[in-house]
Amino acid sequence: MRVLVAEDNSTSRLVLQKSLEKWGYEVVTAKDGREAWELAQAPGSPSLMILDWEMPEIEGIELCRLLREHLNDRPLYVIILTARREKEDIIVGLKAGADDYVGKPFDPDELRARVQVGSRFIELLEELFRVQRALEYQARTDALTRVLNRGAILSQLHSELRHTARASADFSVAILDIDHFKKVNDTFGHVTGDLVIREVAERCSRSILPEGQVGRLGGEEFLLLMPGADRNRAAEILERVRDSIAGEPICYERKVVIVTASLGATEVISGEEEDDILERADKALYRAKEEGRNRVVMGPAQTPEDLRVGVN
Ligand code: GH3
Ligand code: MG
Ligand code: MG
Ligand code: MG
Repeated sequence: MRVLVAEDNSTSRLVLQKSLEKWGYEVVTAKDGREAWELAQAPGSPSLMILDWEMPEIEGIELCRLLREHLNDRPLYVIILTARREKEDIIVGLKAGADDYVGKPFDPDELRARVQVGSRFIELLEELFRVQRALEYQARTDALTRVLNRGAILSQLHSELRHTARASADFSVAILDIDHFKKVNDTFGHVTGDLVIREVAERCSRSILPEGQVGRLGGEEFLLLMPGADRNRAAEILERVRDSIAGEPICYERKVVIVTASLGATEVISGEEEDDILERADKALYRAKEEGRNRVVMGPAQTPEDLRVGVN
């Protein structure tokens, strides 16, 4: 476990460092509050901190407040070192976000025990954060394909729309549907069907990069978001996606499955609702199917004028 020690007195700092190292901790030191604050913000900085109360630049208590305010998305355990023994001071320290305090000059056994408590606390918190991240990932991910699930891609669409409106940026959206997929299931079985869906998702994700995102709407249907792409750019990206699927058969065990997909796309006009966009993309998809499948159809160009009179 790594510990950040912030102490302006160099002798004290060295004693702390040596003691902690003797107890098996890896120590990072700072000679004042500002240096500690900078270290704390760096990626991978120690979660366990021992901060002197009185330090130049930023005092331990103020640093505590900063940590709690700005770094509250990661595990932290802060022990304040202080010569102040008054109950009021201790309350101030704890209220500022310290987890514990140790009196100066510190008693090595006491400090060691308190650091151990902190270290156990950090381990538990880290586990909790890991579980939380895993659950968040699971809640957003489609179990079969590992791309975003329906809820997650629709919520991504929602936030992209808000961004597009704010920045008046280009944005295009497409719906992809695998062609004659029922036949794939009927010919090769459901298990192979699943693998085909997964492979199509992977090819989609790969060829839409770096700007785009893919999510599974359900069954053999995917939603593709292309922030920053106008009509022409979207058409290029989607042609690449289409070709990545149709261009190479999917081989599984000794089966060779040739699949194609149809894509219906539309450019978004700033201020539009999700439903209107999806409906327009769906209409374009329908046309792609009608016109023979294995193709990209861009919906008719829309203008803010159309939006006002509700033209689809
Ligand atoms: P079209 O070209 O018009 O899209 O024809 P299609 O056969 O692909 O369209 P349809 O919507 O009629 O059939 C989709 C099929 O996808 C029906 C359903 O059984 C199958 N399907 C949906 N979800 C899954 C899945 O998770 N795994 C597998 N293997 N099949 C699925
Ligand atoms: Mg000091
Ligand atoms: Mg379908
Ligand atoms: Mg289909």
